[in-house]
Amino acid sequence: MGKGYCVKCKSKREMKDAKEVTMKNKRRAMKGVCVSCGTNMFCILGNK
Ligand SMILES: [Zn+2]
Repeated sequence: MGKGYCVKCKSKREMKDAKEVTMKNKRRAMKGVCVSCGTNMFCILGNK
C-alpha cells in the first residue's frame, strides 16, 4: 500500500490497488486509486 496526493480530495490519501510502474523516462511511480473518492492517483517515487 502506498500513499499519494489526491487532486480531488486535495490531500494525501491511501492508495488502493497501488502498483509500481515505470514511466517512459525510466522513473518509477505508483499508480492507484484513492480510497475515499476513487480518483486515479499517481505518485512519483523518484530515484532510489
Ligand atoms: Zn480522493
